[in-house]
Amino acid sequence: MADLTGKVILVTGASRGIGAATARTLAHAGAQVIIHYGRNATEAQVLVEDLGHDHALPLGADLSQPGAAAELFQRAAAWQGRVDVLVNNAGIAPTATVDDPVGEWSAAWASTLQVNLVATADLCREAILHFRERGGGIIVNVASRAAFRGDNPDAMHYAASKGGVIALTRSIARGYARENVLAYAVAPGWVSTDMAQAYIEAHADTIAREIPLGEVVPPEEVANTIAFVASGLVRHMTGATLDLNGASYV
Ligand code: NAD
Repeated sequence: MADLTGKVILVTGASRGIGAATARTLAHAGAQVIIHYGRNATEAQVLVEDLGHDHALPLGADLSQPGAAAELFQRAAAWQGRVDVLVNNAGIAPTATVDDPVGEWSAAWASTLQVNLVATADLCREAILHFRERGGGIIVNVASRAAFRGDNPDAMHYAASKGGVIALTRSIARGYARENVLAYAVAPGWVSTDMAQAYIEAHADTIAREIPLGEVVPPEEVANTIAFVASGLVRHMTGATLDLNGASYV
């Protein structure tokens, strides 16, 4: 396991799903973790009690609100006087309910781009400013395989937002490598969380057929991937997107 002793790490959307699994993995590897949550303070509190107050701090912020991301980063940095790693995990995947998504572009576009891409970019900006003063730092952005394969018309806004996250990550890696700011994207296929569970259950046969490994990604494997790059052990992989696909390349 990666050794993250002494690292202060902000994980967004950490109250459940991939974010909660990541917060647990990072804390067990020695990190002090800021558990950001959107609306559910209770889930975040339960996780913090479990990890211990020396290792975890809950912080709420609604990332659908412009300006919330920058304020969140400042509050996170105030806890231990610094943030060493930023994990942008919070995300939404609303499907457009219109019959003809191309003819009637949905409001889901605006909300999805705001939470998945704009808030991620705002947090990256704050982190870069902070890291530059401190001699470096690491950003890990959770994207999705939907960025490579595309998505159905009722969810193309989701694929587009995650494609933006990958391009943003690569650009940060290129632009700030000389200041020791490293940036990675992690792109899982289907992961067994609340976000995707209904789809996974409804399409179990297709998933078993199309993914050679025969199963969706457990959240713990996404967490392990994030911990690996957050450790700083693989600096020369900066800008890369780690593709968790179970050998399914479509
Ligand atoms: P989830 O729905 O369980 O968790 C999403 C998290 O984002 C929650 O903690 C939620 O509170 C937070 N969030 C959502 N809207 C927010 C807002 N407005 N303000 C603040 N926080 C907000 O889903 P998950 O599967 O754990 O997703 C985590 C990340 O992984 C997302 O970025 C998602 O797009 C990505 N992802 C998921 C899958 C999958 O199949 N589950 C696959 C690829 C990528």
